[in-house]
Amino acid sequence: MRNMGIVTKIVGAVTAAAGAVVVFFGMSDPQLSWVYYFIGLIVMSIGFSLFNAGGRGAEERKPPPPTVTEIRCDNPECTFKEIRDFQKGDYILKPVDVPCPKCQSTMTIHGVYVVREEPEEKYAV
Ligand SMILES: [Zn+2]
Repeated sequence: MRNMGIVTKIVGAVTAAAGAVVVFFGMSDPQLSWVYYFIGLIVMSIGFSLFNAGGRGAEERKPPPPTVTEIRCDNPECTFKEIRDFQKGDYILKPVDVPCPKCQSTMTIHGVYVVREEPEEKYAV
């Protein structure tokens, strides 16, 4: 939902502009101008509500890309494995200060992953 705000804003702006165009061209037809005016106003209000909805979405703060660190116990007989939030200075094969909660052996970082919730989109600002 990260880029939906921008897309909704653009769609809303285009819809509102289309409504304005309908109202404008409706004026050239005196008989049906009120019909065009009415339709144009409805389309414009839909466009503006979309535009405002998009604005709310864009104001939401982007969370930092979730990065996790995979820690495994060094004891081959122990299967303890932990995924925790990435901390500054973490790297693969770095020994961890905290001992294994299962067998008290040393533990080593076995992986650092960036968890992506959605594929990167090119129009993202
Ligand atoms: Zn262990």
